[in-house]
Amino acid sequence: MPDLRIDWDAITDEATQLLSDFIRIDTSNPPGREADACEWLAGIFRREGIDDVQFYDASDDREHGADRMNLVATLSGDGSKPPLILLNHTDVVPVERQYWDFDPFCGTVVDGVIYGRGAIDMKSMGIMELMAMLIIKRHRLPQTRDIVYMALADEEAGGEWGIEWVEREHPELLDAEYVINEGGWGNAEVFGTRRPSFSCSISEKGPLWLRLVAEGRPGHGSVPHPDNALERLVRALGRVQEWSRPVTAVPELAGFFDRLYRHNILPEPTQPALEELAGSNLVARAILTNTISTTTARAGVKHNVIPGIAEATLDCRLLPGQDAEAFIEQVREVIADPKVRIETVYVSCTPASSAQTELFGIIEEVVHDHVEEALVLPSVSAGFTDSRVFRSHGITSYGFIPILLEQDEAMTVHGHNERIRVENLALGLQILFETVRRLCS
Ligand SMILES: [Zn+2]
Repeated sequence: MPDLRIDWDAITDEATQLLSDFIRIDTSNPPGREADACEWLAGIFRREGIDDVQFYDASDDREHGADRMNLVATLSGDGSKPPLILLNHTDVVPVERQYWDFDPFCGTVVDGVIYGRGAIDMKSMGIMELMAMLIIKRHRLPQTRDIVYMALADEEAGGEWGIEWVEREHPELLDAEYVINEGGWGNAEVFGTRRPSFSCSISEKGPLWLRLVAEGRPGHGSVPHPDNALERLVRALGRVQEWSRPVTAVPELAGFFDRLYRHNILPEPTQPALEELAGSNLVARAILTNTISTTTARAGVKHNVIPGIAEATLDCRLLPGQDAEAFIEQVREVIADPKVRIETVYVSCTPASSAQTELFGIIEEVVHDHVEEALVLPSVSAGFTDSRVFRSHGITSYGFIPILLEQDEAMTVHGHNERIRVENLALGLQILFETVRRLCS
């Protein structure tokens, strides 16, 4: 491989400025309005001589349907290998401004920290992917594969104007051997041990959103009766909350626990050890069980009126390989009340990507070249990402944002005061570029 002279300090300065500008484009979703971000990205690609830049306008006349744009920029290779997609989403989750110590869309850089919504999720990754392409273009590096930069809309609200629209309207864009996306990052600490560990997610839990609807007999609050819809709903929710579900180490997590065991961070992953871990650690519990969060409840119109109907929503997240119908049947048995109806609002489950691939091997090598003592853990994301669509088409998609976060920084994702250290951006730029270069050379 030719010895490249890359001035990483200059690249980091350039990327810092770009990220700061990107954060200033407010793409809070809803309404998203990702068109502004796409125009801005397209300008950068064209300035650098990357002319194959396509807009995919998903806008429609529904609520929040304005200016919903997706962008795809391609740097062609010699075609001897199938494409690599560098995937990101340009929208961000909304902010609760009153809890922020600074303007969430300021993009200010102070003392080596870049501030603002999207600093981690996931405008920084969008910039790392952009810079990887620009460096390859500027140095005219030989490429065996097309490198496709794909900036999608609406990820944070489910992808209706983003990945799901692309899948429906432009399935040809899903042609690739590999996708690098969000879904995992590095942590400075793992299960209480200070040891840099990079999660590379190969799979994710499947969302199953349920609505419970309890029906009963309305009446006067002064004469209680046993067919009160709200009381039925409360009983059902109580039973769901009390229900203890088994701890299951799915095969996708075998490598994760095995590596943590071999590096003396966790005990041997026996069933009792995993049960103990799930009982004491929320993150472990999330990846070892089917979880349920009660998220909304609604009933009643007046203090002295017994309502005839009461509703609640459950956000269930199923382990890879679980059957949603069978799970709903279990919920029904737990609730044990035929007057509580269970409706499915959204369900998605996708297969895992293998960790035995050329790309996974390269990621491990490159991480070790940059952070010698780091672990690379093939993991399962608790949340879901746009990768689900690629995986369902049999494309290997990894969640790998190559930065190393402290716990307090990781908490700012979807929270308040989101920020990233420039030092971390620099690490990510180098690891991602090198990964892309090795995979495509
Ligand atoms: Zn994200």
